[in-house]
This record gives sequence, structure tokens and C-alpha cells, in this order.
Amino acid sequence: MIPTCEEVTQLVSESMDRTLPLGKRIAVRIHFLGCRFCRRFRRQLLLIRKAGQYYKDNAAEDKDDHSLSPEAIERIKQSLKSSEK
Ligand SMILES: [Zn+2]
Repeated sequence: MIPTCEEVTQLVSESMDRTLPLGKRIAVRIHFLGCRFCRRFRRQLLLIRKAGQYYKDNAAEDKDDHSLSPEAIERIKQSLKSSEK
């Protein structure tokens, strides 16, 4: 049974916070095989998460400026670009 795009995006979001049961992980993988949209969604979600982690790491050191540095934004842009291939 292959989940719909809606279910997959939901599962992918969930998987950022906790490990999905094996059956669901497999279902998502099977869906990815035929769905570019969901693969891309997952990549972008991972990227946003990475950016969030970066923000957290840096916020601890730099308490005055809580925005992303221009370098970080540039890096995110580059990653987004390369994920569109
Ligand atoms: Zn899909």
C-alpha cells in the first residue's frame, strides 16, 4: 500500500522529530521512487532543519544578532539550487 503525497509529506515532517516505524519508512521510500515532489520536499525540509541547527549553534555564541549571517543564507541558497537538479 503506497501512501498519498499528503500522507508522505506528513510522515516526512514526523520523521524529523522521531524515527518512523519500519513499515512507514518503507512506504515512504516506495513513494519517493515515483514522486519527485515528495523527494524534493524532504530535501528542503532537511535543509531548513540544518539551517535551524546552524541558527541555534550560532545564537548561543552571538547573543546580539539572532539573524542568519549572509554566509549562511548564501550557503542555504546554494544548497537549494543544487537540490533542484
Ligand atoms: Zn508524493
